[in-house]
Amino acid sequence: MIKAVTGTKDILPADIPKWKYLEENVQRVFQNFNYKDIRTPVFEETALFARGIGEETDIVGKEMYTFKDRSDTSLTLKPEMTAAVVRAYNEHSLGAQQSLVKLFYISPMFRQERPQAGRFRQFHQFGAEAIGSKSPLLDAEMIQMSYEILVSLGLKKLTVKINSLGTPETRENYKKLLKEFLEDKKDKLSEDSRRRFETNILRIFDSKVESDQKLIKDAPKLIDHLDEESKNDFEVVKEQLKKSNIPFEIDPALVRGLDYYTKLTFEIDSGSVGAQTALCGGGRYDLLIETLGGKPTPATGFAAGIERILLACENEKSFSIPEHSINVYIVRIDNKLESVISELAGKLRKENVSVDFDYLQRSVKAQMREANKLNARYVLFLGGDEYNEGIMNLKNMSNGTEEKIPIDLIREFVAKLKQR
Ligand code: AMP
Repeated sequence: MIKAVTGTKDILPADIPKWKYLEENVQRVFQNFNYKDIRTPVFEETALFARGIGEETDIVGKEMYTFKDRSDTSLTLKPEMTAAVVRAYNEHSLGAQQSLVKLFYISPMFRQERPQAGRFRQFHQFGAEAIGSKSPLLDAEMIQMSYEILVSLGLKKLTVKINSLGTPETRENYKKLLKEFLEDKKDKLSEDSRRRFETNILRIFDSKVESDQKLIKDAPKLIDHLDEESKNDFEVVKEQLKKSNIPFEIDPALVRGLDYYTKLTFEIDSGSVGAQTALCGGGRYDLLIETLGGKPTPATGFAAGIERILLACENEKSFSIPEHSINVYIVRIDNKLESVISELAGKLRKENVSVDFDYLQRSVKAQMREANKLNARYVLFLGGDEYNEGIMNLKNMSNGTEEKIPIDLIREFVAKLKQR
């Protein structure tokens, strides 16, 4: 038997209601903040991500699904959405029509990571990008939206962590400080961190190696060396979060090691998902639009992982979905009525009544079992003498009462069903 590829999974009908519930909440919150839906292709030219995410990152270095198509073009399944959204923004000059463009998405992503609980190779993210303004109010808005979505799903064990990376100049100065601090400790760093010391020193903060963490514990902190503008913007974000009653922590180690990231970065962690704690992350990326060939344009955004959020919801039993039901199940008492029932079901379905019936020539008893299994609110019996007199029997499954319905008064019947 052929099975699904490692790190991918089917979302089976039993799981779909949870996904839909999450997606409805996501869409509602984004609409309230006036973000518009954008959908980009599943694959892009590899260069977009290599340039947009950065060669030095794990995503580009180790995790991309990259392949050559038949015309020898290098393509990559999208590992994240920001670069793709910015590509679309530049390509369609979206900024020419509107000076601030607010976009959201829900989309599958692909990364060849080691699969474990909460980490997959095809997973799904929702997220938002606001392109065209440097207002820190928009940075706060990203946190507000993601927090609101998570809270709307009933999640409680949330930690919001924020940090500021300052402007590129601030960061360059800080990198020098960090380099001086680590110079004589360099040899004790892990191999990965020694490489990062040369290529992108900030990323040493992302190291999971304990001895690295010990070494950088007392390093100077970027947050203590911010320029005035970044400092003021950070204050505005904090102020907004306080006004929105969103508890937060400042985490000076929250550095996204990409050069185009600027000023605010944030992450929301959950205490309910085991080792992979981050439910979402984001921040300001004032340099990316230019990096990808557009005009210099400030922007900010975030992305959240749906599988991981649903795992947290499950572990916290944070919401429950009403059991699926159908309006009517038609029970065939007389086998000759098969096609009459199919026709009747068709009429009811056209009136937006959800209907099912037996396609397997089962006994009346088995049909009733099926009606129960499908959680039918009403069962309609067709057959016998009553049918010959133009009458059907309708049973209300929640209270057991029965009533007789004339077969030719479908519209009145539907109206009655909808009233209840
Ligand atoms: P990132 O784009 O790496 O900042 O990730 C944003 C969010 O996407 C993370 O906080 C996770 O919730 C989710 N995520 C990232 N990688 C994976 C993965 N391999 N499997 C499942 N979820 C992921």
